[in-house]
Amino acid sequence: MQKAGKPSIQSLLLEEIAADLAARNERPYRAKQIANWIYEKRVTSFDAMSDLPLELRKQLAEVFEFHQLEIIRILGSKDTTRKFLFRLADSNLIESVLIPASPSLYGATSDRRTICVSTQVGCAYGCKFCASGLDGFSRNLEVGEIVQQLLAVEKESGEKIDNVVFMGMGEPLANFANVVRAIQIINAPWGMEIGARHITVSTSGLAPQIRQLADQPLQSRLAISLHGATDEVRNRIMPVNRKYDLNALLSACDYYASRKKQRIYFEYILIADVNDAEEQAHLLAAHARRLGAKVNLIPYNTVEGLEWSRPSRARQERFLSILHEHGTVATLRREKGHDIDAACGQLRLQTKRTEERAAT
Ligand code: SAH
Ligand code: SF4
Repeated sequence: MQKAGKPSIQSLLLEEIAADLAARNERPYRAKQIANWIYEKRVTSFDAMSDLPLELRKQLAEVFEFHQLEIIRILGSKDTTRKFLFRLADSNLIESVLIPASPSLYGATSDRRTICVSTQVGCAYGCKFCASGLDGFSRNLEVGEIVQQLLAVEKESGEKIDNVVFMGMGEPLANFANVVRAIQIINAPWGMEIGARHITVSTSGLAPQIRQLADQPLQSRLAISLHGATDEVRNRIMPVNRKYDLNALLSACDYYASRKKQRIYFEYILIADVNDAEEQAHLLAAHARRLGAKVNLIPYNTVEGLEWSRPSRARQERFLSILHEHGTVATLRREKGHDIDAACGQLRLQTKRTEERAAT
């Protein structure tokens, strides 16, 4: 929801729009009409909602904000991964990534197009390898700003998105209420109508919020950014582990697994000489077995200004084969559009720095 000023119409669930209309003595079916204009016909103002009485359109425009995301840069080509850089109303920058059909992605089959959305401006968690955390944290995204990423990317690309991963900039579980609401809208039959099993939330390990998510009636999927199978490795690269260590994280995952039917994913970026030792693979397999988790290995994407790099292909394959020897379900991502598929947060950081230089 909006912190200041008018609330955004795109932050509301259908029943909340209906309640607002009821309070102004409007007919309840108008709520469906409004949702239809926003998520089906994709208009960009109340004015365009031509089957609503003029007076109501005027009233709504006075009471509600109608968020728009301005696309300021697109990187990549139609057949590869495309990055979209947006400017928000307060001039903050965020990015989304549209990933073409790929069999190795969460919930994706070969013909699915995936969008990777941001949930915050920057990130407070400061993982040592990640571009999103480099510049600190500015603010949470509003519900509408999260959902609008899908609408804007579909509009610009002309493609229908059928898989959503909350793996862009920010820590989704640190913006819990807005992310849960965004998932509800993305999933709703009156909203974006994307199946819950095709929506994946990724977290660096916020144990209390993982438990909270387990208690929500959502069927979306959960990915844990593990990146290390011991506290020693995780402490070195992920400060969050000092707050919620591996034990706390895995027991929150146990709780999640006990409450939900679907499998958890473990994300594991392979970083040379940091987390790619064979011992880590054996321990990772044990954690995965405990939870029935599936492991996604991702070769590290180099970030400008950071010293980390990915291990050799042979070493990546070796890590994968150890997991397979243990019977762990695991894949090694072979990315598409690698040239621009740099880690989330990078495009924004580059643009921000260029603009700062231009302004001085
Ligand atoms: N904050 C959440 C979601 C956003 S990050 C989280 O950490 O899970 C999404 C994924 O991208 C995480 O698994 C993160 O570790 C990974 N990532 C960050 N920087 C990366 C890089 N340079 N190369 C590859 N993956 C990266
Ligand atoms: Fe934040 Fe996730 Fe990046 Fe860590 S990996 S700094 S939690 S966005």
